[in-house]
Amino acid sequence: MMYVVEKISDCKATLAALRHDGDTNKRVGFVPTMGYLHAGHASLIERARAQNEVVVVSIFVNPLQFGPNEDLDKYPRDLQSDLALCERLGVDIVFTPTVATMYGQEPTVLTRVHVDRLGEHLCGASRPIHFDGVCTVCAKLFAIVSPNYAYFGKKDAQQWRILRQMVQDLSFDLEIVPCPIIREEDGLALSSRNAYLSPKERHTALILHDTLVSLEQKVLVHREFDASRLIAQAVEQIDRAPGVRLDYLSIVDDRTLSPIDRIEPEKDVLIAIAAYVGTTRLIDNVEIRVER
Ligand code: AMP
Repeated sequence: MMYVVEKISDCKATLAALRHDGDTNKRVGFVPTMGYLHAGHASLIERARAQNEVVVVSIFVNPLQFGPNEDLDKYPRDLQSDLALCERLGVDIVFTPTVATMYGQEPTVLTRVHVDRLGEHLCGASRPIHFDGVCTVCAKLFAIVSPNYAYFGKKDAQQWRILRQMVQDLSFDLEIVPCPIIREEDGLALSSRNAYLSPKERHTALILHDTLVSLEQKVLVHREFDASRLIAQAVEQIDRAPGVRLDYLSIVDDRTLSPIDRIEPEKDVLIAIAAYVGTTRLIDNVEIRVER
């Protein structure tokens, strides 16, 4: 039986009933989403299902994490098909709050959660309020659901690292579980925003993954470690491609998320890209580590 709840109090009450079983507390796995679910989301839900007795999915398009000129109003939605997928995957509770439920009729939430430093580069640089919005909604959702584990996709490389920091700094009693990026057969990372792409743009969008694979090869196979040079060459290529506007391409330290000039052996680095294909902003990344 799957419960679909819209109110915070209902979500808490339903969870309390499912969580407590005599003296034992069941493990609760939580997958926060903005809906329009695809196989990437499904992989997180399956992982949560495998590791917990109770699985909660939230579906909430969070206005706090969208900038004024972003796609909040046209963000794709399909609650019926989302619920059908959740049901198939054996989700226990789907939490579908409205904006008023989360933030009041007038925005009455005066609190923002901000994580320093980790949001300075990559997506944080071009989306200044984005991660404060993500942290604020996740802090609120974590307070409502009190999960033992919260599952996030590595597609949003900066997001799960920032949330891991928030959880540590604010002593949330849960673990952030990063999960692998699910891709189409040709390499395009699944995203709800792929729905915006025309067939031609869908083809053009391959440049994100292709760029990452080629950089990964240059580093791991050809052992080119000059990060600034690698980036400059790749950027030049992307700039020549029609229909794409690069937001950023960066090689950053996996821990600090700050750009590095040189890739050192035995240090984890992240190569991350964001680009507009037409008007659609897409992101992707790979984690690499050079052995000595
Ligand atoms: P969203 O609905 O876009 O906010 O995403 C909800 C969660 O699904 C986030 O943790 C994302 O990182 C994750 N996610 C989105 N796309 C993918 C993907 N292609 N592979 C794995 N996880 C994903």
